[in-house]
Amino acid sequence: MRMWMLPPQVMCRKHLLGEHVEMHMFAGSMIKGVSMDGYIENGLMDAPLLRQRHDELVAEMEKRGYNHKSPMQDEVDALLFDHDKKPDVDWNIIDLATRCLDCRALLVQEGLVTPCCICGRPLINPDEDLCIEFESTNLQEPELLFDDADELK
Ligand SMILES: [Zn+2]
Ligand SMILES: [Zn+2]
Ligand SMILES: [Zn+2]
Repeated sequence: MRMWMLPPQVMCRKHLLGEHVEMHMFAGSMIKGVSMDGYIENGLMDAPLLRQRHDELVAEMEKRGYNHKSPMQDEVDALLFDHDKKPDVDWNIIDLATRCLDCRALLVQEGLVTPCCICGRPLINPDEDLCIEFESTNLQEPELLFDDADELK
């Protein structure tokens, strides 16, 4: 489970719907009394924003014409608490753009990700032209190293 905390409009259908379901799973776990410490420690959750994030994702879902029939569980409101460690949104953008080509395309389109000019992977430092993965490996044969390279063209 993870609160990506990216602007909902840059998430593909799968990740938008996935994060929405996970907001309900977080709430369900909290209502059951499951500890959220591990999620918080790993930057996967921003507990006080759970309901707000759910509603933000739903607004985007409805804008796209997806069905939504699951209001956030009311019982969770009394259980939300603040904490110091927060998700690192800048890192989450790079992480999601690395995992998902559809999200990557939206992130590039919105100017939130600069793609490597060879393989299209998100650049951690947008001032560079090439990604770390590419520079640290064989400069001659990137197509053999990244099986998603073709899909990026
Ligand atoms: Zn819902
Ligand atoms: Zn995605
Ligand atoms: Zn690259």
